[in-house]
Order: sequence, then C-alpha cells, then structure tokens
Amino acid sequence: MKFKSIIDVIQYFSDEQRCLDYLIQMRWKGEIICPHCGCNKIYELKGKFKRYKCTDKECKKQFSATKGTIFENSQIPLCKWFTAIFLYGFHKKGISSCQLAKDLNVTQKTGWFMAQRIRHMLNTGGSIELEGTIELDETFIGGKNKNRPYHKKVKNSQGRAFIDKTPVMGMLQKEEAHYIQRPHKIMPGKMVTEKVVTKPSEIKAIAISDTSGKSLHPHILETVKKGSILVSDEWRGYRGLNAIYEHHIVDHTRGQYVDEAGHTSNTLEGAWSHLKRTIIGTYHQVSRKHLQRYVDEFVYRYNTRKITVQEILDNSMENVNTRLSYKQLVKKKVA
Ligand SMILES: [Zn+2]
Repeated sequence: MKFKSIIDVIQYFSDEQRCLDYLIQMRWKGEIICPHCGCNKIYELKGKFKRYKCTDKECKKQFSATKGTIFENSQIPLCKWFTAIFLYGFHKKGISSCQLAKDLNVTQKTGWFMAQRIRHMLNTGGSIELEGTIELDETFIGGKNKNRPYHKKVKNSQGRAFIDKTPVMGMLQKEEAHYIQRPHKIMPGKMVTEKVVTKPSEIKAIAISDTSGKSLHPHILETVKKGSILVSDEWRGYRGLNAIYEHHIVDHTRGQYVDEAGHTSNTLEGAWSHLKRTIIGTYHQVSRKHLQRYVDEFVYRYNTRKITVQEILDNSMENVNTRLSYKQLVKKKVA
C-alpha cells in the first residue's frame, strides 16, 4: 500500500484490525519476536485482538502486538495514532497538540500526550556519526527579556548568556554535491549547469546547560569523526579541538562570514531560524524540560526533508519499540 495523501491514510487505516495487521507486519516483518526474552518460539492465542504466547521454558509470557511500543496501554484507537503520526510526518512546520486534538477529535490532554509520545518516537539521534565538513553553532531558545515586567528582567540575557534561555548546540554535516552539464530541456542546442546533490546535509542538535568548552567538546568528540573539518565562529568554547580536527574559524566580530578558504557556517544559521520560527509559530512556548524533544523533532524533520511521506510512515513504524510512559513524561527533572 502506497500512501500519497492524507485521504489515502485515513481511508486505509479506518479499520482497527487492519491497523493492527499493518503494525505487526511493519514491526516484525513476518517473524514475531517475544518482547520479554527475544526468542521466536511464539504462538498466536485465539481471539479478535491479536495476542501471543511465548513458549520459551523460562519465559512463557503473553503479549500483545502493541507491547513495548508507543501504543502500549493506550485507550486511543490505532487508527487515530496512525493518522497522528502521518500528520506529524506531513506537516513540515510542525503541528501543535491543540490542533492535533481538534483534528483527531480527542481531548487536549490526550492530544498533548500523543504529541509527546510521537516526538519521543521520532528521535533518530544517538547513533549517527558525522564526517566531512561540519558546521558548529549554538542557538538560544526561550526567555525574551523585553517581554518581561521590569522586576522579572534578567541581566545579561542577550547573546551568549544563558541565564533565562536554554542553549542548543548544533552540528551540521555539509551536503555533498557536484555540478554537471546537460542540454536545456526546452531550448535545443543550449547547455545548462545543474547541481546534483549526492548526500543532503544532516544535523545533530542537543539542548545543553551552557556553552563552555567543557559542555561542547564531549558532544563534538562523540559525534564528529576524527580528521573531519570543523567550521565555527570565534566563540572560545570551540577552542582546543585542533589536535583532532582541522578547524576553520569564521570571525563574525570582524564582519567575516566566509573565511579565506571559503568556509561558512550559514547553513546551520538558516536551520536555527527555522527551529525558532517553528517553536514560536506553532508551539508558542516550550518548557526547558521538554525542549530536547522539540529539538529531536526538528532534527528528524530536517534530516528527513528529502524523503517521501511513505518513507516517513514506514520509518515511524520501525521505531515503535520505544515507549514513553505518562510517569516518565511528567517527571519534574530537566531532561
Ligand atoms: Zn519470551
């Protein structure tokens, strides 16, 4: 089944049984695995809503198709879940939980909960290693000083101070492209130059507590492959990485936006403005606690901007083995 529009998705997933079959197919691809012990000696129990039993002597546990997924222990029908995932994948600018609640005809609280679970699931981060030419930059989210009453104003809240803002650091692997000469499509005899992108740019972004070298370096060392080229501005938090990387500094204080070798950090700056617009335009405000999840969603959207709606949906289903309980969600701790 290929989904080209929202209509295709709603029509296809209108039946709960069909949703369940789709989930089972996407999740296990023909070989059902026990989520408790990982073995494949499984049999299906009789009944309408698929349940399984593990035959392993030590285990012998029962489970449903939604066990260990974001759908586990949820009263929300799968057709609403699937539509919600699709809406997330489809709306490039994001969708607020209020809008989601209206679209799916659920309460605002349910809409919020679904949105948080989906954001958690969309997190593809953790394993991607970046290489080649990497732009480094940070941005600050939240806390507009000028909108506060006088007694609540925070000193030094502009620029790189982070007293009332949460810094987010970003690492962007530049796209790989080359140019080809091809005949013009309409005008005979005319040649045109076309850019062919072989690998689109990719981002990793992390909400951090401050922008010191001590906070920035471990993320860079963990993410960027040794021998890569780093491009950053003159911020001192990026100093001291020369032994491992070739580091180019674009000095903004000197009005420089491209260094002598042609390196810029413009791509990431453009992406940041998109992140800020999304948070301000769609979500209005984000608490510190939930910021990383919004950042994850932004990163996911950015890194999947070239893939089709079908691929987003498939990818979503493959990542279902991650569950965020309500208890975890409402925990007071800053994530
Ligand atoms: Zn088992």
